[in-house]
Amino acid sequence: MKQIPYWVWFAIIGFMFAAMLLSTQLVQQPKEAKISYSEFKQTVLNGDIKEVTLDGDKASALLSSPKKFGATTTDFERVSTITPASGDPDLIKLLEKNNIIIWNRPLDDGIGWLKSIVPWFVLFGVYIFFLRRMQGNVMDRFGGRNSQDFLVGSSAQEEKTERKVTFDDVAGQEGAKREVAELVDFLKHPQTYENVGAEPPRGVLLMGAPGTGKTLLARALAGEAGVNFFHISASEFIEMFVGVGASRVRKMFEEAKKRAPSIIFIDELDAVGRARGTGFGGGNDEREQTLNQILSEMDGFSGHEAVIVLAATNRPDVLDPALLRPGRFDRHVTLDLPDKTAREQILKVHVRKVPLAKEVNLATVAASCPGFSGADLKNLVNEAAIAAARNGVDEVTTEHFDTMRDKIIMGTVRTLAIQPEEHKRLAVHEAGHTAVAFYSPNADPLYKVTIIPRGRALGATHMLPGEERHTLDENYLLDQLAIILAGRVGEQIFMGNVSSGADDDIKRATQLARSMVSRWGMSKDIGPIDLSQSEEHPFLGREIAQPKRFSEAISNKVDEAVSKLLKDAEQSAVNTITDHKSKIEVLFKMLEKEETVSHDQITEILS
Ligand code: ADP
Ligand code: MG
Ligand code: ZN
Repeated sequence: MKQIPYWVWFAIIGFMFAAMLLSTQLVQQPKEAKISYSEFKQTVLNGDIKEVTLDGDKASALLSSPKKFGATTTDFERVSTITPASGDPDLIKLLEKNNIIIWNRPLDDGIGWLKSIVPWFVLFGVYIFFLRRMQGNVMDRFGGRNSQDFLVGSSAQEEKTERKVTFDDVAGQEGAKREVAELVDFLKHPQTYENVGAEPPRGVLLMGAPGTGKTLLARALAGEAGVNFFHISASEFIEMFVGVGASRVRKMFEEAKKRAPSIIFIDELDAVGRARGTGFGGGNDEREQTLNQILSEMDGFSGHEAVIVLAATNRPDVLDPALLRPGRFDRHVTLDLPDKTAREQILKVHVRKVPLAKEVNLATVAASCPGFSGADLKNLVNEAAIAAARNGVDEVTTEHFDTMRDKIIMGTVRTLAIQPEEHKRLAVHEAGHTAVAFYSPNADPLYKVTIIPRGRALGATHMLPGEERHTLDENYLLDQLAIILAGRVGEQIFMGNVSSGADDDIKRATQLARSMVSRWGMSKDIGPIDLSQSEEHPFLGREIAQPKRFSEAISNKVDEAVSKLLKDAEQSAVNTITDHKSKIEVLFKMLEKEETVSHDQITEILS
């Protein structure tokens, strides 16, 4: 039925309507005149009538020839009238006397009424059919499944057809994996926990940056657990009809309890779990109802049901505190961005089906992708494979990885018409960054420098952190400031003036300096006080504005300290560049010619 396109249904309905209208028109023949009983009798007496049909209290007659009635101009072929309520015993005699043929209809054949309502039934049926189809469509979007089985462990069914995801598919994230695996143990042996009087865990919240594998981990858990698995994405609750979200939550929990042991997984919890009463435009009632339903369902567990609720979010900071209190999502599992070894393991998972050239060293590839999430790495492998296919080779090489990595980090190469003067300035600017990075003792090692415009940037100096940093020490940050400002300094020294090209550098340097002063207490004049006016988001790297909580005087001091840091950093860049002026000149000339200079070449020129 679903294969039949909409327009066919519309055509059928339209046709039915037309048919109905037409048939009513035919029944009410305009050629029949309604006349009074006395006039009817008079017509009989005049001998104008050939046949009469008696139908209950209605008498309709066929005229022997068309005639006009009353003031009309139409010729009528039939007349009809209503016989007196008491009946007219003389009528039959009168008709017989005038040799008129008499037809009789049964008073009620018992199905007459049925005939008249059948079309309405059909119409109603079609209407219901469409309504259900529409609902079905909405539910289909609910994970792309059929409306009937979206409730009942649909993921478990899904896993049967697809290849099962297991913990082997989740690379790195050992801590998170272990913690999630404990849940399976609980579901399989609830008695062990009960014996020692331990309350079973209720809710587990997976948090982490987008693409760190939260959904993947939950699916792997479903694959490993061997229990019923209910999967729902919270963002889809609010797309539905009003009031459906809450009832869906209720049904899902009901079903999960009925089929315990089971796991409920609510993906993108923040879509419904935002703190209540803070919604824009007066709040989203639908969302709040859904959230309330989740809360009350989680309270409704009697304690011994083997049901665990797993949820994932990348915005734990906006979640309603009521969700996080003990008894609800009280266990928090954080998925971090992978470090170098984890990145290598993730790459290994995703290159299983990709033929690699022998020279490819996944460890090097992993090292060149700092800050990549699992999803980014998967994308990298895929893009590299696509590039290989496009080049018509059957092995993916290091070069494919390298090009795609640049593309992912900085966007696609742009072909801009750059004037020679500007080209030189770009080379000088990047050479400035590169040189100061090279000579700074606390900077990350250089990877390469390029002036090929990509995405929004006209050039870039790439550095790769040797090992993962979790805190940034003061010396590193000071060097960082000098490196960021060095592009501009290079322009000043070699071109004699500066340009607007350092726009982004200045912004970044200022932000960094401000954080050093107001958040990390790295200014002696001010000391360790939190004076930040914004808070960095834990996973999204975005700044969230905060109200100012300190005086104008302190505010001025912060500004002074920030500007001192920046000026010192600039001076240090000036010193470095002047000290190595001739070598840097060689570097920027090469850069101007080659457009990209690799790590080895940089070392050769500058050391
Ligand atoms: P999110 O945390 O945003 O839910 P997903 O679980 O959807 O991220 O991850 C997207 C994809 O990235 C996964 O389907 C998987 O292919 C890949 N991925 C992410 N993390 C890992 C990992 N640790 N190991 C292997 N693949 C991963
Ligand atoms: Mg996800
Ligand atoms: Zn720059």
